[in-house]
Amino acid sequence: TSARVAGIPPTVFSRMSALAASTGAVNLGQGFPDTEGPSTIVEQAVEALRSGHNQYAPGLGTADLRRAIADHQWAQYGITVDPETEVVVTTGATEAIAGALLGLVDPGDEVIALEPFYDSYAAMTAFAGGVLRGVTLRAPDFRLDADALRAAVTKRTKLLLINTPHNPTGTVLDREELEAIARVAVDNDLIVVTDEVYEHLVYSGHEHVPLATLPGMAERTLTLSSVGKSFSLTGWKVGWATGPAELVAAVLGAKQWLSFTSGSPLQPAVAWALAHEQAWPASLARDLEARRDLLCDGLDALGLPARRPEGTYFAVTDISALGWRDGLEFCLALPERAGVVAIPLQGFYADGSRDGEQLVRWAFCKETAVLEEGLRRLGAAE
Ligand code: PMP
Ligand code: GLN
Repeated sequence: TSARVAGIPPTVFSRMSALAASTGAVNLGQGFPDTEGPSTIVEQAVEALRSGHNQYAPGLGTADLRRAIADHQWAQYGITVDPETEVVVTTGATEAIAGALLGLVDPGDEVIALEPFYDSYAAMTAFAGGVLRGVTLRAPDFRLDADALRAAVTKRTKLLLINTPHNPTGTVLDREELEAIARVAVDNDLIVVTDEVYEHLVYSGHEHVPLATLPGMAERTLTLSSVGKSFSLTGWKVGWATGPAELVAAVLGAKQWLSFTSGSPLQPAVAWALAHEQAWPASLARDLEARRDLLCDGLDALGLPARRPEGTYFAVTDISALGWRDGLEFCLALPERAGVVAIPLQGFYADGSRDGEQLVRWAFCKETAVLEEGLRRLGAAE
């Protein structure tokens, strides 16, 4: 194994899902829904498979999908992007993250990310030879500390890597926070990469505002999203990056050596979904909101108070309330003790940080009966 790969701990999601499978535990760990996305979209993919969409797609993605992504950005947010040069289709948002970091970061460059961060940000920054600096969204409210963000910028800072709605905290950055980010970016002439894969999974009283819509931001912002969360098709791994042509070209420059091009039969189906199932993500969000409340009420009743997340699939609790000090130990013991799997947050902070030690993430993108069974098991284990 190369030092590059060996230097990064394996992703906690695989470890915890394997543990769930081997112990038969209720999996409230890895964020994937246990119900399928719309069958209408699946039928479109079947049709594409049968009708000859089985050879390489263009590196940028099929023209139809790029147009559908551009139309989505316009219809939802009033953002204009040119489907010919300002959209690239990727193998999930994961490849868009990889492409952005490999395509934009030189060795020694610093990347500032909101902490706790999705684990691939750290891995891909390291692959690029960059240095990840965290700006912590602190428990229990997980809001942005704009002064800490400004203070994190150095001469070596290359880009800000933002994620809203935010995995794992469930924070949806509000306009004031986004304006603070925009000011730091403009004042320091920084590129912003914003991971908005949960853009449609936002709950009552909150609104997703894309960073690219703020003044001065369209020309410096690369926006990432994917089909997985919006349409409950996480296994499809069709994602995209949109933004200024130079930034999209940087992603494509890396992507051409990663996957060259993404799977062709799913692209027409995703284009169709964006054009014809526009109401589906909002109905998913309404449904998820009820499950969020079920999980959070249940955790509250068990003495594990969770701030009600504003978006995403996830709620975070502090396990010190139960007398535990180490989230990893807690999560490794939980399948045996209670028959439930959750995700410890300590791997989602920059090296040496102890901020996440007592924090644990629970996914509520599961059927009601599964959430109820998970809560019942947690209650019985106490
Ligand atoms: N970013 C965040 C914040 C995520 O939670 C996920 C979901 N695993 C991804 C990116 C990756 O998305 P995809 O499955 O489309 O690669
Ligand atoms: N985004 C999902 C999560 O955070 C899935 C993670 C993954 O599969 N790498 O749980």
